[in-house]
Amino acid sequence: MSNTVNSMSMTQSGMPASAYRGRFAPSPTGPLHFGSLVAAVASYLDARHHGGEWLVRMEDLDPPREMPGAADGILWTLERYGLHWDGEVIYQSHRSTEYQVALEQLDANGRLYGCACTRKEIADTSLPGVDAAVYPGTCRNGLPEGREARALRVRVDSAEVKIEDSLQGSTRQHLGREVGDFVVRRADKLVAYQLAVVVDDAAQQITHIVRGADLLDSTPRQVYLQRLLELPTPAYLHLPVAINTTGEKLSKQTGAPPVDDAEPVSVLLDVLQFLRQDVPGSASDMTLEDLLKCASERWDRTRLTATRTRSAPAGYLGD
Ligand code: GLU
Repeated sequence: MSNTVNSMSMTQSGMPASAYRGRFAPSPTGPLHFGSLVAAVASYLDARHHGGEWLVRMEDLDPPREMPGAADGILWTLERYGLHWDGEVIYQSHRSTEYQVALEQLDANGRLYGCACTRKEIADTSLPGVDAAVYPGTCRNGLPEGREARALRVRVDSAEVKIEDSLQGSTRQHLGREVGDFVVRRADKLVAYQLAVVVDDAAQQITHIVRGADLLDSTPRQVYLQRLLELPTPAYLHLPVAINTTGEKLSKQTGAPPVDDAEPVSVLLDVLQFLRQDVPGSASDMTLEDLLKCASERWDRTRLTATRTRSAPAGYLGD
């Protein structure tokens, strides 16, 4: 891991790392839709407004959920929208050694344990938590007789984590009561998102994370892991998530169509309006480059709504 960290402390151009380093970290489960483009554009504009770098990381850790060709398609669309990233794109699928090092560190500190429970067993014996059942701690003091470990969990004990979000304000989460000991390596041996994101944000020296508020409830788990692994905590800004008329997050599952690569300026204007940014009246006549430059200069976080969701414009919802 130290090699990766060292090689990332300088930018590609050989300049020292920026004081602001942001990122967009899509999962290649399908093409970019309006909701994912909002996260890409907002993280890009916030980075550029602050004179920072903007990196792209492909979160391709979950092959069963991925769509062949989606990673390349996403990168192509970002380019088409003029969202040019700095440095090389990092692929999580290439980083299993770094995740293994982190798992070993957690284990050496006595924070990990093997868990034999199936989903059904957990569902039958637990209470609902922030985003899933709160793990009741069945295997915390050792596996039941005759059972084998499936997943690896991290102990949370009575940790309470407070986060300060630049838009949504401060939130507190009592991990023991609201989440429970959580999975860092899944039963199918894949590393869990919560661990990979923390390892990679640190390795890429990310200082500012701008992403959808659907991840706000995951942030205390990530901050908790940062503390256990002695990694820095970036600044967070969780944007309102684009929802459809039935209140669901736009996604492939809810039928959100891919954004149109043919009309980047008009789609960008809708994204900027969703983000409540002020654009000049002449914006629709601008070139893509000029529009992005103008939007970065004028980017104003205080115009964003401090809500977890916001309705997406009608043209982007699908059938
Ligand atoms: N890969 C995650 C997603 O597409 C985002 C992760 C993050 O921004 O931390 O929902």
